[in-house]
Amino acid sequence: MSPSSHADPAVPRVTTRPPHGCALLLMDLFRSYLHQQRLPLTRQREVIAMGLFESGEQLSVDDLADLLRGRGEHVGKATIYRTLSLLVQAELARELDFGEGFKRYELQAGEARHDHFICTSCGQVTRFVRSVVDEFQATIAAELGYTVQSRRLEIYGLCSECRAAVERASSAGAVTTGEAASSGQVRGEGG
Ligand SMILES: [Zn+2]
Repeated sequence: MSPSSHADPAVPRVTTRPPHGCALLLMDLFRSYLHQQRLPLTRQREVIAMGLFESGEQLSVDDLADLLRGRGEHVGKATIYRTLSLLVQAELARELDFGEGFKRYELQAGEARHDHFICTSCGQVTRFVRSVVDEFQATIAAELGYTVQSRRLEIYGLCSECRAAVERASSAGAVTTGEAASSGQVRGEGG
């Protein structure tokens, strides 16, 4: 049972196995996407998505079916295909065509459409996906005549816990700091 039975030496196969925490994070993003679309996170969708997220490889529907069967999960290929399409729509996976007569899929992480807030105090990294950033990117790229290959967007600031700690410290010191600087202030929306 080799999930790579279709492997061809000419086909670029890159393995960038993500850490387990990354798979869990992507699963959170998939869960929120499904929630937005009013679709349930079924057990089958979950095992398919985790299979892709954890492998870090470019998998075909057949590869994923084999991989899941090896874990004792029997999931139909039509379900795998539909779930992969959802992951592509959620921008958590991308479809690849190496001219093999079938598509491959790989997780999309650390590339365009995956941005970060970074706390300058505790170092917490919060990844987020927002379509408005993609739209902004597409507009600027078109204006400047660029084709986007990847993106690295990092926004620095204080996380809510560190900000609360700073506020507690300043009120404990009975010193009013005046208006908070508006430049670094970013309002989070939703969950
Ligand atoms: Zn922090």
